[in-house]
Amino acid sequence: MNAVNHYDAIVIGGGPAGLTAGIYLSRARLRTLIVNEGTVGGQMVLTHEIANYPGVESISGYQLANMMKKQAKTFGCDIRANVIISGLELTGETKSLTLSDGSSYTSDSVILATGGRSRTLGVSGEDTFKGKGISYCATCDGDFFTNKEIVVLGGGNSALEEAVSLTKYAAKVSIVHQFDHFQAFEHAVEEARNNPKIDFILESSITAFYGNEKLESIDIKNLNTGGITRFKTDGVFIFIGYMPNTEFLKGKVELNQWGEIPVRPDMSTNIEGVYAAGDSITKRFRQVATAVGDGTVAALSASAYLHDLKTKKQFIPA
Ligand SMILES: Cc1cc2nc3c(=O)[nH]c(=O)nc-3n(C[C@H](O)[C@H](O)[C@H](O)COP(=O)(O)OP(=O)(O)OC[C@H]3O[C@@H](n4cnc5c(N)ncnc54)[C@H](O)[C@@H]3O)c2cc1C
Repeated sequence: MNAVNHYDAIVIGGGPAGLTAGIYLSRARLRTLIVNEGTVGGQMVLTHEIANYPGVESISGYQLANMMKKQAKTFGCDIRANVIISGLELTGETKSLTLSDGSSYTSDSVILATGGRSRTLGVSGEDTFKGKGISYCATCDGDFFTNKEIVVLGGGNSALEEAVSLTKYAAKVSIVHQFDHFQAFEHAVEEARNNPKIDFILESSITAFYGNEKLESIDIKNLNTGGITRFKTDGVFIFIGYMPNTEFLKGKVELNQWGEIPVRPDMSTNIEGVYAAGDSITKRFRQVATAVGDGTVAALSASAYLHDLKTKKQFIPA
């Protein structure tokens, strides 16, 4: 084992969950490496404004990400950004990681914190107006649409529950859904149907987004007739599914049918010494604050595991 490339813990993913784990582990004087596929910060760097992180009234996601990154580095955490993992072995006492540039590392524990992404619609204008009228998170952005007229796209539980929650802010919410029935629980459908601020545009989909600085209108296609209507709106919330970034973990750690990593309350996975945190685990609420909480628990659990491992090794007779 090469001592230079051996770490107490390797954290895969440098979003708020991974960075928090890095802060706790390095502050506990554990040799820690964070590897991240893209720019460090995860989904935070896509967020124009975060207004619900406790203690920070309003901050750009980019700034919050940089503050977390700096804090981790101050405690001695190594960070490698823009890497691609080409090999990963999680079983056994020593874990190993290989990157596409040929570098390889070993560790006694691993924290998986690769987050996820909302399913996008993939139509014209969606990329342009992301964060400028198009959102994938009602908890994050609902408040920005106070007294506005907005659209929710989707027909599952998330879409209907979030549409109802958005009526706390918006003057009107139009739910656009591709079928004439919903894939949500009956109580969620009832609640949406009984809400006077909600109306429904069924058997329809959005085919384009338009605007200047911000989103101003959308094209709604009637899927029966093929007819397209230009529809003025202040915002569109898209809830058509969520995908955890765990494709590369298939066969390496237990995943559920949606690709999420099931964890115990201490964030341990089915593999000894392997923990998971943040948006990639099985959970209901995906926020910076919940990711930070998960990262904290995963790091403290990994620290306890490493302590036990080192103590056990000291007592193995020569
Ligand atoms: C547009 C938008 C706005 C949001 N606004 C808010 C808000 O206002 N308030 C709030 O609390 N939450 C908000 N959220 C949600 C919040 O950003 C997430 O819940 C949070 O970032 C999840 O943290 P995470 O560390 O689990 O994952 P992520 O932030 O997704 O970070 C995971 C990291 O892992 C890396 N990664 C993925 N796969 C690999 C791999 N194979 N190898 C190495 N690295 C990998 C990714 O590049 C990424 O950097 C918003 C999300 C979006 C998309």
